[in-house]
Amino acid sequence: MQNCIFCKIATGEIPKEFEYEDKDVMVFKDINPIKPKHHLIVPKKHIKELVVAKPDEIKKLFTIVQKMIKKSKLEENGYRITLNGGGAQFVDHLHIHLTGPMGKKAGW
Ligand code: 5GP
Ligand code: ZN
Repeated sequence: MQNCIFCKIATGEIPKEFEYEDKDVMVFKDINPIKPKHHLIVPKKHIKELVVAKPDEIKKLFTIVQKMIKKSKLEENGYRITLNGGGAQFVDHLHIHLTGPMGKKAGW
């Protein structure tokens, strides 16, 4: 979609180093991290937000969230998943924030 920053990242128009990539999903670091690890898990296809995503698309995204939790060692160090929608999001292209470490071990 024109003028969508995450679509431009998906097509390579805006170069970005991916932490994970397959044909459907890309993962990259948030430009403005709120924790030492702040990944954005994003479908390459333009999906406006969660409520219009198909069950298979949601399943795929969360499978990659699981992968990233393990890859970033957040399973043992605490993590949070945030998904903004309904106007609470700045970028109108579905994405999941995975942030950490946090919690007991990280001292909240
Ligand atoms: P939202 O509030 O829509 O859930 O969050 C959008 C997130 O995307 C923000 O945390 C913001 O820092 C991040 N972001 C916006 N533009 C870019 C960009 O061009 N590159 C990267 N890596 N992150 C971005
Ligand atoms: Zn888009």
